[in-house]
Amino acid sequence: MAKRILNTDPQRSAMMGRVRQRDTAAELSVRRILRARGYGYRVCVSSLPGKPDIVLTRYHTAIFVNGCFWHGHAGCPRATVPKTHARFWKQKIAANRARDAKVKTELEELGWNVLTVWECELGDVDKLAERLTESPMLAASVLLQRKGSAGNA
Ligand SMILES: [Zn+2]
Repeated sequence: MAKRILNTDPQRSAMMGRVRQRDTAAELSVRRILRARGYGYRVCVSSLPGKPDIVLTRYHTAIFVNGCFWHGHAGCPRATVPKTHARFWKQKIAANRARDAKVKTELEELGWNVLTVWECELGDVDKLAERLTESPMLAASVLLQRKGSAGNA
């Protein structure tokens, strides 16, 4: 007799299927922010650990756009684990978090700057844009660009 599969509600099952889906609304928003500010990027770079969602090759920066629930955004209301099958969800989310941490370490060892964008941050695009451009690598490159334009003046 087949082992009984843990019965989860359809909405959750659908969410589960979307964990690593590409071109989510959140990813598209982040790309729009970068594009509007003139950053060139590549998407879904499979040659890098964890297949980062967005890669700014020029700035050696890999960006992951994470769903708060699935990646266990600490202290975020969207990351609340449902009471039903709480242990199941906690294990799943813990596994995702462990994987995220491993991938981040691997990328950093390869000399990449790793940025994580949380889904909930997209509620305040200006603030997120500020954070993205304040990242050390991006900030350094912006500084270089400014120096360059000052020299032309
Ligand atoms: Zn969040």
